[in-house]
Amino acid sequence: MSRYTPMEHAVTEILISVGENPAREGLQDTPMRVAKAWREWTSGYGVDVTRLFKEFKDGGERYQEMVLVRSLPFYSHCEHHLAPFFGTADIAYIPNGKIVGLSKLGRLLDAYAKRLQVQERLTRQIVEALVDNLQPLGAACKISARHLCMESRGLCKQGHETVTTALDGVFLSDPAARSEFLASVR
Ligand code: ZN
Repeated sequence: MSRYTPMEHAVTEILISVGENPAREGLQDTPMRVAKAWREWTSGYGVDVTRLFKEFKDGGERYQEMVLVRSLPFYSHCEHHLAPFFGTADIAYIPNGKIVGLSKLGRLLDAYAKRLQVQERLTRQIVEALVDNLQPLGAACKISARHLCMESRGLCKQGHETVTTALDGVFLSDPAARSEFLASVR
């Protein structure tokens, strides 16, 4: 067993626990493969979110309309079951002098999705990162996701989607701004 890393050893224990033989041909490299996959699935812990926002794009000084990136795909794991949950995120902000490249919003999503999560916190963390780093007039995030821990167990509600929304700034205080966001992401 000593040739395994702690993660690989843990996977071997799971294989034994479910009644498998880790020495079986098809499983021989599974501990290594699983450990490698989990390093990627949890790579968000190594991302410094503030650094994502280090460079601002020119041209934002006078732009005060909603910037919205819709249907960004993400893959995460729930912290209660270590099961995948995945779906799409709509991320919006209203600049107050600072704009970032749109690709940064996808990387922001990944930085938080590639951790052990609950969907509510993931949604909130994205909004808080925008607020903390861009000081926008408003920030909003809506996430729709399917949770395999729910769908593959118990009630087996297949196709069931969980929707969470987080709002800040004018998206909270101004009904017109909130309506514009919610209508755009329906
Ligand atoms: Zn779960």
